Amino acid sequence: MSSRRQFLQSSALALAASALDWRALLAQPVRPGQPDPLTLVRGTVGTFTGRGGTIGWHIDAKSVVVVDSQYAATALTCLDAVNARTQSRAIDYLVNTHHHGDHTGGNGVFRPAARKILAQRNVPVLQRAAAERAAKAPQPGVTTPPPEQVYADTLFDKTWREPVGNEVMSLTYYGPAHTGGDAVITFERANVVHMGDLVFNRRQPVLDRPGGSSIAGWVRVLEGVLRDHPTDTIYIFGHAGTNFPATGSRADLEVQRNYLTALLDFTRGEVKAGKPRDVVVKFAEPLPGFPDHGPLTERVLGAAYDELTSGT
Ligand SMILES: [Zn+2]
Repeated sequence: MSSRRQFLQSSALALAASALDWRALLAQPVRPGQPDPLTLVRGTVGTFTGRGGTIGWHIDAKSVVVVDSQYAATALTCLDAVNARTQSRAIDYLVNTHHHGDHTGGNGVFRPAARKILAQRNVPVLQRAAAERAAKAPQPGVTTPPPEQVYADTLFDKTWREPVGNEVMSLTYYGPAHTGGDAVITFERANVVHMGDLVFNRRQPVLDRPGGSSIAGWVRVLEGVLRDHPTDTIYIFGHAGTNFPATGSRADLEVQRNYLTALLDFTRGEVKAGKPRDVVVKFAEPLPGFPDHGPLTERVLGAAYDELTSGT
């Protein structure tokens, strides 16, 4: 490259940096010609979809927040993209919506860049217990080393709220649902909410009873989120079925609530009909009324059966 062309390019970059504000940086990929893996949702908030739970982010001139960390490899891609937009400013908060490995497995990648890792108080306890269970019961024939566990260092019980740059971020724990430590993260100005795995948009949910899940609790939690947010809130979902988006509206939360209610009703009917557990879990068809979610699985029906018959 000629020195003149180099000069023109670096001048253009300098001009861009001085003349455009940070909103321009948000609006376009920083590396020309390369696809930007960050998708803007609204205002200063967006998503990154790699492998595992959808990552959320908030970036403005004064602050950087990342919600969830997927696994190490995709966390690196995400961190790289965030750094490109922020000129590698420190991340004020890495938030973990809950303890599952596809939401915390990249914590170690973000750790050096993040001032604080924030989660509900139960999350490190559940994360440690899950790692110990996995170490005790390795998959037969699989000798992969257990992933490095990096834990949240800043914990809250019921609510947490703080300004982050020009945004206000609030976290709420509504009670046991997908796990025993799900945080709902609201970016108040952008009016965007990260739901973690409280919404599996049109696919079978993960019901983690050892991790503290409760289907009945999950229904109540979704009612709480719907009650606490306005009609035009945009929600980010941890997971979505093939051909369904990782963001949506309160109508999608209502579908998730209705699905979980119907799952309990359906399984209760099977129990009342006197069917044993090993028969109930074999119903490999979609839950009646919810064809988009695909066939029910033994794990989903087993969790519903156990919840109904154990009384917890
Ligand atoms: Zn999860």
